[in-house]
Amino acid sequence: MGDVDRETQAHGLATVLGFVSETGVAGLTLGGGFGYLTRRFGFTVDNLLACEVVTADGVVRQVSRESEPELFWALRGGGGNFGVVTQLTFRLHKVGPRILGGLIAWDGAQLPEVLPFVRDFMAKSSRELTCAVTLRRAPPAPFIPPAFHGKPIIGVVCCHSGELEKARDELRPLKAFGRPIADLVVEKSYVEQQRMLDATQPSGLAYYWKSEYLPGLGDRLLEAARARAEVNPSPLSQLVLFQLGGALEERPMDEGAVGNRDAAFVAGVQGCWPVGDPIGERCLSWVRGTWEALRPFSTGGVYVNFQAADEGEDRVRAAYGSNYPRLAAVKKQYDPDNLFHINRNIAPA
Ligand SMILES: Cc1cc2nc3c(=O)[nH]c(=O)nc-3n(C[C@H](O)[C@H](O)[C@H](O)COP(=O)(O)OP(=O)(O)OC[C@H]3O[C@@H](n4cnc5c(N)ncnc54)[C@H](O)[C@@H]3O)c2cc1C
Repeated sequence: MGDVDRETQAHGLATVLGFVSETGVAGLTLGGGFGYLTRRFGFTVDNLLACEVVTADGVVRQVSRESEPELFWALRGGGGNFGVVTQLTFRLHKVGPRILGGLIAWDGAQLPEVLPFVRDFMAKSSRELTCAVTLRRAPPAPFIPPAFHGKPIIGVVCCHSGELEKARDELRPLKAFGRPIADLVVEKSYVEQQRMLDATQPSGLAYYWKSEYLPGLGDRLLEAARARAEVNPSPLSQLVLFQLGGALEERPMDEGAVGNRDAAFVAGVQGCWPVGDPIGERCLSWVRGTWEALRPFSTGGVYVNFQAADEGEDRVRAAYGSNYPRLAAVKKQYDPDNLFHINRNIAPA
Protein backbone atom coordinates (compact mmCIF):
# COMPACT_ATOMS: atom_id res chain seq x y z
CA MET A 1 0.00 0.00 0.00
CA GLY A 2 3.05 2.28 0.29
CA ASP A 3 2.94 2.97 -3.44
CA VAL A 4 -0.71 4.08 -3.23
CA ASP A 5 0.09 6.47 -0.37
CA ARG A 6 3.09 7.83 -2.25
CA GLU A 7 1.16 8.56 -5.46
CA THR A 8 -1.92 10.02 -3.77
CA GLN A 9 0.18 12.16 -1.43
CA ALA A 10 1.87 13.72 -4.44
CA HIS A 11 -1.52 15.47 -4.79
CA GLY A 12 -2.06 16.03 -1.05
CA LEU A 13 -4.63 13.21 -1.00
CA ALA A 14 -5.04 9.85 0.74
CA THR A 15 -7.51 7.07 1.30
CA VAL A 16 -7.79 4.92 4.42
CA LEU A 17 -5.02 2.30 4.48
CA GLY A 18 -3.28 0.32 7.24
CA PHE A 19 -0.42 0.92 9.67
CA VAL A 20 2.30 -0.99 7.77
CA SER A 21 3.12 0.20 4.27
CA GLU A 22 4.24 -3.20 2.98
CA THR A 23 0.75 -4.70 3.39
CA GLY A 24 -1.10 -5.40 0.12
CA VAL A 25 -3.98 -3.07 -0.74
CA ALA A 26 -6.32 -5.72 -2.18
CA GLY A 27 -6.43 -8.13 0.78
CA LEU A 28 -6.56 -5.28 3.29
CA THR A 29 -9.44 -3.60 1.48
CA LEU A 30 -11.52 -6.72 0.87
CA GLY A 31 -11.39 -7.63 4.57
CA GLY A 32 -12.49 -4.12 5.62
CA GLY A 33 -9.27 -2.23 6.32
CA PHE A 34 -8.46 0.23 9.08
CA GLY A 35 -5.62 2.63 9.86
CA TYR A 36 -4.79 6.14 11.06
CA LEU A 37 -7.61 7.70 8.99
CA THR A 38 -10.43 5.34 10.01
CA ARG A 39 -11.77 7.61 12.75
CA ARG A 40 -12.17 10.36 10.13
CA PHE A 41 -13.28 8.46 7.04
CA GLY A 42 -14.35 4.95 8.12
CA PHE A 43 -13.08 1.54 7.10
CA THR A 44 -11.10 1.30 3.86
CA VAL A 45 -14.16 -0.28 2.24
CA ASP A 46 -16.26 2.75 3.19
CA ASN A 47 -14.07 4.60 0.70
CA LEU A 48 -14.29 1.99 -2.03
CA LEU A 49 -16.29 3.36 -4.95
CA ALA A 50 -16.01 0.53 -7.46
CA CYS A 51 -14.01 -2.52 -8.38
CA GLU A 52 -13.37 -4.87 -11.25
CA VAL A 53 -13.63 -8.53 -10.30
CA VAL A 54 -13.30 -11.82 -12.15
CA THR A 55 -15.90 -14.16 -10.67
CA ALA A 56 -15.88 -17.99 -10.57
CA ASP A 57 -17.68 -18.21 -13.93
CA GLY A 58 -14.79 -16.34 -15.59
CA VAL A 59 -16.84 -13.17 -16.17
CA VAL A 60 -15.10 -9.82 -15.68
CA ARG A 61 -17.53 -7.60 -13.78
CA GLN A 62 -17.54 -3.87 -13.08
CA VAL A 63 -19.08 -3.62 -9.64
CA SER A 64 -20.34 -0.61 -7.68
CA ARG A 65 -23.41 0.60 -5.78
CA GLU A 66 -25.19 0.95 -9.12
CA SER A 67 -23.86 -2.14 -10.89
CA GLU A 68 -24.35 -5.54 -9.19
CA PRO A 69 -24.91 -3.91 -5.78
CA GLU A 70 -25.20 -7.19 -3.83
CA LEU A 71 -21.79 -8.32 -5.06
CA PHE A 72 -20.38 -4.87 -4.27
CA TRP A 73 -21.87 -5.13 -0.77
CA ALA A 74 -20.24 -8.54 -0.24
CA LEU A 75 -16.84 -7.42 -1.54
CA ARG A 76 -16.80 -4.66 1.08
CA GLY A 77 -15.57 -6.97 3.85
CA GLY A 78 -16.13 -10.48 2.47
CA GLY A 79 -12.45 -10.98 1.59
CA GLY A 80 -11.35 -13.17 -1.31
CA ASN A 81 -14.57 -15.20 -1.32
CA PHE A 82 -16.18 -13.70 -4.41
CA GLY A 83 -13.52 -13.55 -7.09
CA VAL A 84 -10.19 -12.08 -8.08
CA VAL A 85 -10.26 -8.32 -7.81
CA THR A 86 -8.21 -6.68 -10.54
CA GLN A 87 -9.02 -2.99 -9.96
CA LEU A 88 -10.07 -0.91 -6.98
CA THR A 89 -11.37 2.69 -7.17
CA PHE A 90 -11.17 4.72 -3.94
CA ARG A 91 -12.55 8.00 -2.70
CA LEU A 92 -9.61 10.26 -1.76
CA HIS A 93 -9.47 12.91 0.96
CA LYS A 94 -7.28 15.91 1.57
CA VAL A 95 -4.67 14.72 4.08
CA GLY A 96 -1.30 16.19 5.02
CA PRO A 97 1.13 16.16 3.35
CA ARG A 98 2.55 17.25 6.76
CA ILE A 99 1.10 15.69 9.91
CA LEU A 100 2.04 15.38 13.58
CA GLY A 101 2.80 11.82 14.55
CA GLY A 102 5.18 9.29 16.02
CA LEU A 103 5.75 7.31 19.19
CA ILE A 104 5.83 8.20 22.89
CA ALA A 105 6.99 5.55 25.34
CA TRP A 106 7.05 5.25 29.12
CA ASP A 107 8.72 2.83 31.51
CA GLY A 108 6.48 -0.21 32.02
CA ALA A 109 6.78 0.33 35.78
CA GLN A 110 4.55 3.40 35.28
CA LEU A 111 1.89 1.37 33.50
CA PRO A 112 -0.73 1.59 36.31
CA GLU A 113 -0.75 5.40 35.95
CA VAL A 114 -0.04 5.73 32.22
CA LEU A 115 -2.58 3.24 30.91
CA PRO A 116 -5.71 4.84 32.46
CA PHE A 117 -4.42 8.29 31.49
CA VAL A 118 -3.96 7.23 27.86
CA ARG A 119 -7.41 5.58 27.87
CA ASP A 120 -9.06 8.81 29.09
CA PHE A 121 -6.97 10.90 26.66
CA MET A 122 -8.15 8.76 23.72
CA ALA A 123 -11.77 8.98 24.86
CA LYS A 124 -11.61 12.78 24.38
CA SER A 125 -9.64 12.79 21.15
CA SER A 126 -10.85 14.39 17.94
CA ARG A 127 -11.40 12.22 14.87
CA GLU A 128 -8.24 13.67 13.36
CA LEU A 129 -6.20 11.93 16.05
CA THR A 130 -5.72 8.17 16.16
CA CYS A 131 -3.63 6.32 18.74
CA ALA A 132 -2.51 2.74 19.13
CA VAL A 133 -1.22 1.54 22.48
CA THR A 134 1.49 -1.11 22.59
CA LEU A 135 2.56 -3.14 25.59
CA ARG A 136 5.86 -4.83 24.90
CA ARG A 137 9.54 -4.95 25.81
CA ALA A 138 11.72 -2.11 24.55
CA PRO A 139 13.76 -2.92 21.45
CA PRO A 140 17.48 -2.04 21.52
CA ALA A 141 16.75 1.03 19.43
CA PRO A 142 18.90 4.16 19.57
CA PHE A 143 15.93 6.31 20.58
CA ILE A 144 15.35 4.25 23.79
CA PRO A 145 17.80 4.82 26.68
CA PRO A 146 19.98 1.65 27.00
CA ALA A 147 18.82 1.08 30.60
CA PHE A 148 15.35 0.23 29.27
CA HIS A 149 16.39 -2.13 26.47
CA GLY A 150 14.58 -5.45 26.91
CA LYS A 151 12.44 -4.04 29.76
CA PRO A 152 8.65 -3.69 29.64
CA ILE A 153 7.42 -0.40 28.21
CA ILE A 154 4.12 1.15 27.20
CA GLY A 155 4.16 2.97 23.87
CA VAL A 156 1.57 5.13 22.16
CA VAL A 157 1.82 5.42 18.39
CA CYS A 158 -0.22 8.35 17.17
CA CYS A 159 -1.07 10.33 14.08
CA HIS A 160 -2.91 13.65 14.03
CA SER A 161 -3.81 14.35 10.42
CA GLY A 162 -5.51 17.70 11.06
CA GLU A 163 -4.21 21.24 11.00
CA LEU A 164 -0.74 21.31 12.63
CA GLU A 165 -1.43 23.96 15.27
CA LYS A 166 -4.53 22.10 16.39
CA ALA A 167 -2.55 18.86 16.41
CA ARG A 168 0.14 20.35 18.68
CA ASP A 169 -2.53 21.60 21.11
CA GLU A 170 -4.31 18.27 21.19
CA LEU A 171 -1.18 16.19 21.72
CA ARG A 172 0.38 18.48 24.35
CA PRO A 173 -1.18 16.71 27.40
CA LEU A 174 -0.02 13.30 26.17
CA LYS A 175 3.53 14.52 25.62
CA ALA A 176 3.54 16.19 29.04
CA PHE A 177 2.27 13.22 31.03
CA GLY A 178 4.69 11.58 33.48
CA ARG A 179 8.26 11.13 32.36
CA PRO A 180 8.36 9.56 28.87
CA ILE A 181 11.55 7.65 28.13
CA ALA A 182 11.17 8.53 24.43
CA ASP A 183 9.12 11.13 22.58
CA LEU A 184 9.35 10.88 18.81
CA VAL A 185 6.10 12.70 18.06
CA VAL A 186 7.14 15.31 15.50
CA GLU A 187 5.93 17.03 12.37
CA LYS A 188 6.63 14.75 9.39
CA SER A 189 5.16 13.71 6.07
CA TYR A 190 2.12 11.45 6.08
CA VAL A 191 4.07 9.00 3.89
CA GLU A 192 6.81 8.77 6.55
CA GLN A 193 4.19 8.15 9.21
CA GLN A 194 2.68 5.37 7.11
CA ARG A 195 6.09 3.67 6.93
CA MET A 196 7.04 4.22 10.56
CA LEU A 197 5.98 0.75 11.80
CA ASP A 198 7.40 -1.24 8.87
CA ALA A 199 10.57 -2.03 10.82
CA THR A 200 8.52 -3.54 13.66
CA GLN A 201 7.25 -6.33 11.36
CA PRO A 202 10.34 -7.59 9.54
CA SER A 203 10.00 -10.50 7.13
CA GLY A 204 11.77 -13.80 7.88
CA LEU A 205 10.44 -14.19 11.44
CA ALA A 206 7.65 -16.42 12.77
CA TYR A 207 4.33 -14.65 13.55
CA TYR A 208 1.13 -15.78 15.26
CA TRP A 209 -1.71 -13.33 15.89
CA LYS A 210 -5.07 -13.35 17.64
CA SER A 211 -7.54 -10.54 17.87
CA GLU A 212 -10.88 -9.24 19.18
CA TYR A 213 -12.92 -6.08 18.68
CA LEU A 214 -13.48 -4.20 21.94
CA PRO A 215 -16.30 -1.77 22.80
CA GLY A 216 -13.99 0.24 25.10
CA LEU A 217 -11.19 -0.05 27.63
CA GLY A 218 -12.69 -0.65 31.06
CA ASP A 219 -10.59 -0.94 34.23
CA ARG A 220 -10.86 -4.72 34.33
CA LEU A 221 -9.67 -5.03 30.76
CA LEU A 222 -6.71 -2.73 31.44
CA GLU A 223 -5.83 -4.86 34.47
CA ALA A 224 -5.98 -8.03 32.35
CA ALA A 225 -3.80 -6.42 29.67
CA ARG A 226 -1.27 -5.29 32.26
CA ALA A 227 -1.06 -8.76 33.83
CA ARG A 228 -0.53 -10.43 30.45
CA ALA A 229 2.09 -7.88 29.36
CA GLU A 230 4.08 -8.78 32.47
CA VAL A 231 4.45 -12.41 31.34
CA ASN A 232 5.24 -11.72 27.66
CA PRO A 233 8.17 -14.07 27.00
CA SER A 234 9.55 -12.45 23.84
CA PRO A 235 11.02 -9.03 23.09
CA LEU A 236 9.41 -9.26 19.64
CA SER A 237 5.84 -9.99 20.80
CA GLN A 238 3.32 -7.33 21.79
CA LEU A 239 -0.24 -6.57 22.76
CA VAL A 240 -1.61 -3.67 20.70
CA LEU A 241 -4.84 -1.74 21.24
CA PHE A 242 -5.75 0.11 18.02
CA GLN A 243 -8.20 2.97 18.45
CA LEU A 244 -11.30 2.97 16.22
CA GLY A 245 -14.71 4.62 16.76
CA GLY A 246 -15.37 8.04 15.21
CA ALA A 247 -16.72 7.79 11.67
CA LEU A 248 -17.33 4.04 11.90
CA GLU A 249 -20.43 4.53 14.01
CA GLU A 250 -22.09 6.86 11.52
CA ARG A 251 -23.08 4.08 9.15
CA PRO A 252 -25.55 1.24 9.70
CA MET A 253 -24.15 -2.17 10.70
CA ASP A 254 -25.09 -3.63 7.29
CA GLU A 255 -23.34 -0.89 5.28
CA GLY A 256 -21.02 -3.34 3.51
CA ALA A 257 -20.32 -6.83 4.79
CA VAL A 258 -17.56 -5.62 7.11
CA GLY A 259 -19.92 -4.90 10.07
CA ASN A 260 -18.39 -4.36 13.54
CA ARG A 261 -19.20 -0.65 13.63
CA ASP A 262 -19.71 -0.85 17.38
CA ALA A 263 -15.97 -1.43 17.88
CA ALA A 264 -14.01 1.29 19.68
CA PHE A 265 -10.74 -0.70 19.60
CA VAL A 266 -9.10 -3.67 17.96
CA ALA A 267 -6.99 -5.75 20.34
CA GLY A 268 -4.16 -7.45 18.48
CA VAL A 269 -2.07 -10.04 20.33
CA GLN A 270 0.99 -10.41 18.15
CA GLY A 271 3.45 -13.22 18.83
CA CYS A 272 6.77 -13.02 17.02
CA TRP A 273 10.01 -15.01 17.33
CA PRO A 274 12.98 -16.19 15.25
CA VAL A 275 12.03 -19.23 13.13
CA GLY A 276 13.04 -22.47 14.88
CA ASP A 277 13.76 -20.79 18.23
CA PRO A 278 12.36 -22.84 21.16
CA ILE A 279 10.85 -19.62 22.55
CA GLY A 280 8.21 -20.07 19.84
CA GLU A 281 6.20 -22.51 22.00
CA ARG A 282 6.09 -19.99 24.84
CA CYS A 283 5.08 -17.24 22.44
CA LEU A 284 2.21 -19.32 21.06
CA SER A 285 1.02 -20.06 24.56
CA TRP A 286 1.32 -16.36 25.54
CA VAL A 287 -0.72 -15.25 22.51
CA ARG A 288 -3.46 -17.81 23.22
CA GLY A 289 -3.52 -17.06 26.95
CA THR A 290 -3.66 -13.31 26.36
CA TRP A 291 -6.44 -13.70 23.84
CA GLU A 292 -8.42 -15.83 26.34
CA ALA A 293 -7.89 -13.15 28.99
CA LEU A 294 -9.26 -10.44 26.66
CA ARG A 295 -12.21 -12.36 25.20
CA PRO A 296 -14.62 -11.57 28.07
CA PHE A 297 -14.29 -7.88 27.10
CA SER A 298 -14.91 -8.37 23.35
CA THR A 299 -17.86 -7.01 21.37
CA GLY A 300 -18.12 -10.63 20.17
CA GLY A 301 -16.71 -9.56 16.80
CA VAL A 302 -13.29 -10.13 15.31
CA TYR A 303 -11.46 -8.53 12.40
CA VAL A 304 -11.38 -11.11 9.61
CA ASN A 305 -7.94 -9.96 8.41
CA PHE A 306 -6.38 -10.60 11.82
CA GLN A 307 -7.54 -14.23 12.01
CA ALA A 308 -5.05 -17.10 12.11
CA ALA A 309 -5.35 -20.16 9.89
CA ASP A 310 -6.17 -22.37 12.90
CA GLU A 311 -9.40 -20.49 13.67
CA GLY A 312 -12.61 -22.27 12.73
CA GLU A 313 -15.87 -21.41 11.00
CA ASP A 314 -17.28 -19.99 14.25
CA ARG A 315 -14.67 -17.24 14.04
CA VAL A 316 -15.58 -16.43 10.43
CA ARG A 317 -19.19 -16.10 11.58
CA ALA A 318 -18.03 -13.93 14.49
CA ALA A 319 -16.27 -11.65 11.99
CA TYR A 320 -19.54 -10.92 10.19
CA GLY A 321 -22.23 -11.29 12.85
CA SER A 322 -25.70 -10.58 11.47
CA ASN A 323 -24.24 -9.94 7.98
CA TYR A 324 -23.19 -13.58 7.62
CA PRO A 325 -26.42 -15.09 6.13
CA ARG A 326 -26.54 -12.36 3.45
CA LEU A 327 -22.88 -13.04 2.59
CA ALA A 328 -23.58 -16.76 2.28
CA ALA A 329 -26.47 -16.00 -0.11
CA VAL A 330 -24.25 -13.81 -2.33
CA LYS A 331 -21.60 -16.54 -2.25
CA LYS A 332 -24.17 -19.04 -3.50
CA GLN A 333 -25.10 -16.72 -6.36
CA TYR A 334 -21.55 -15.93 -7.54
CA ASP A 335 -19.49 -18.94 -6.38
CA PRO A 336 -21.89 -21.88 -5.79
CA ASP A 337 -19.08 -24.48 -6.01
CA ASN A 338 -16.84 -22.59 -3.59
CA LEU A 339 -14.00 -22.22 -6.10
CA PHE A 340 -12.56 -19.44 -3.93
CA HIS A 341 -12.12 -21.36 -0.69
CA ILE A 342 -8.47 -20.77 0.31
CA ASN A 343 -9.46 -17.85 2.52
CA ARG A 344 -11.57 -17.15 5.59
CA ASN A 345 -14.26 -19.13 3.90
CA ILE A 346 -17.95 -18.33 3.61
CA ALA A 347 -19.80 -21.47 2.59
CA PRO A 348 -22.47 -20.99 -0.14
CA ALA A 349 -25.89 -20.98 1.59
C1 LIG B 1 2.48 -6.65 9.16
C2 LIG B 1 1.00 -6.54 8.96
C3 LIG B 1 0.34 -5.38 9.33
C4 LIG B 1 -1.03 -5.26 9.11
N1 LIG B 1 -1.66 -4.09 9.45
C5 LIG B 1 -2.96 -3.93 9.14
C6 LIG B 1 -3.61 -2.68 9.36
O1 LIG B 1 -3.03 -1.74 9.87
N2 LIG B 1 -4.91 -2.57 9.02
C7 LIG B 1 -5.60 -3.60 8.46
O2 LIG B 1 -6.77 -3.41 8.15
N3 LIG B 1 -5.02 -4.80 8.24
C8 LIG B 1 -3.73 -4.98 8.57
N4 LIG B 1 -3.12 -6.18 8.35
C9 LIG B 1 -3.91 -7.32 7.87
C10 LIG B 1 -4.02 -7.27 6.36
O3 LIG B 1 -5.14 -6.50 6.03
C11 LIG B 1 -4.16 -8.69 5.79
O4 LIG B 1 -3.00 -9.43 6.07
C12 LIG B 1 -4.43 -8.65 4.29
O5 LIG B 1 -4.80 -9.94 3.86
C13 LIG B 1 -3.22 -8.20 3.50
O6 LIG B 1 -3.54 -8.01 2.16
P1 LIG B 1 -2.63 -8.63 0.96
O7 LIG B 1 -3.15 -8.08 -0.31
O8 LIG B 1 -1.20 -8.43 1.31
O9 LIG B 1 -3.11 -10.12 1.08
P2 LIG B 1 -2.40 -11.48 0.66
O10 LIG B 1 -1.62 -12.00 1.83
O11 LIG B 1 -1.75 -11.37 -0.66
O12 LIG B 1 -3.71 -12.33 0.52
C14 LIG B 1 -4.51 -12.64 1.63
C15 LIG B 1 -5.90 -13.01 1.12
O13 LIG B 1 -6.57 -11.81 0.68
C16 LIG B 1 -7.39 -12.12 -0.43
N5 LIG B 1 -6.90 -11.34 -1.58
C17 LIG B 1 -5.72 -10.70 -1.72
N6 LIG B 1 -5.66 -10.08 -2.92
C18 LIG B 1 -6.83 -10.35 -3.55
C19 LIG B 1 -7.38 -9.98 -4.81
N7 LIG B 1 -6.72 -9.22 -5.70
N8 LIG B 1 -8.62 -10.44 -5.13
C20 LIG B 1 -9.32 -11.21 -4.26
N9 LIG B 1 -8.85 -11.56 -3.05
C21 LIG B 1 -7.62 -11.14 -2.70
C22 LIG B 1 -7.27 -13.60 -0.67
O14 LIG B 1 -8.30 -14.27 0.03
C23 LIG B 1 -5.93 -13.94 -0.07
O15 LIG B 1 -5.82 -15.28 0.33
C24 LIG B 1 -1.75 -6.33 8.55
C25 LIG B 1 -1.09 -7.51 8.21
C26 LIG B 1 0.27 -7.61 8.39
C27 LIG B 1 0.97 -8.90 8.00
